[in-house]
Amino acid sequence: MDLGLKDRVALVTAASRGLGRAVAEGLAREGAAIVMCSRSQEAIERAAQEIHHITGTPVLAVQADVTREQDISRLVTLALDRFQRVDILVCNAGGPPSGPFLNFSTDDWRRAIELNLLSTIMLCRAVVPRMKEHRWGRIINITSVAAKQPIDGLILSNAVRPGVHGFAKSLARELAPYNITVNCVCPGYTRTERVVELAQKMAASEGISVEDIYRRWESLIPMKRLAEPREFSDLVVFLASERASYITGASIQVDGGFIAGIF
Ligand code: NAD
Repeated sequence: MDLGLKDRVALVTAASRGLGRAVAEGLAREGAAIVMCSRSQEAIERAAQEIHHITGTPVLAVQADVTREQDISRLVTLALDRFQRVDILVCNAGGPPSGPFLNFSTDDWRRAIELNLLSTIMLCRAVVPRMKEHRWGRIINITSVAAKQPIDGLILSNAVRPGVHGFAKSLARELAPYNITVNCVCPGYTRTERVVELAQKMAASEGISVEDIYRRWESLIPMKRLAEPREFSDLVVFLASERASYITGASIQVDGGFIAGIF
């Protein structure tokens, strides 16, 4: 299948590692030019060089924190200076901390909203005007299975992520006449650096092996294994492509069957 991604320009945020990195590489493998950011200049440049080395496509690395509006505006300006357009926007960021309700202050809530909801809104506001001019665009938000099925201990994520889905649904309906699609993709347990570190931390604090932690997570997943980042990024790449032209306002999980509900 020709995905029609050659020479498209994709902006992927929070991409120095994990899911964002996998998505940037997946799009680059299909011939898209990439603009990628993370908070650390050194980390994003390293990831960009690796992707350029693997795929040969142009990759621009930008240091930017997606919670800062001035960083987003600089990021988009640099992308437009270099490539003249942004056809595909993949909104990603780190996840909020875990813990019980009473552990979090109003400022913690504000930070979670800024990190996972407001960043998406600000990124869309920065790229949508050009997409409308070109009458073509793809916006994909990386959220979490927690948006569809709350996960105990992740109250910040459980509360804030569904807001991204509400925003995306509204935006999808408004932008559909311009040939701009807006979708959300919900990762389940996926073997990224963050998840490996989390398994190690939990194992150390509970005095059990890392394998025991993985076994505990795997017992919750009908497929009995974690996803590899590539299994997640393949869906995002498809949604970013010409071939996904009639899919908009959708929220799709990549979770090995973890979500038990029908929708
Ligand atoms: P990760 O920690 O491996 O990677 C996160 C990336 O985001 C890094 O490149 C980091 O530098 C960057 N980043 C963090 N905050 C940023 C900010 N404010 N501005 C710019 N860059 C920022 O995480 P991951 O596992 O790839 O997860 C990505 C997203 O998916 C997170 O929101 C996470 O909560 C969510 N998620 C992941 C899983 C999973 O199993 N991996 C499951 C459900 C949801």
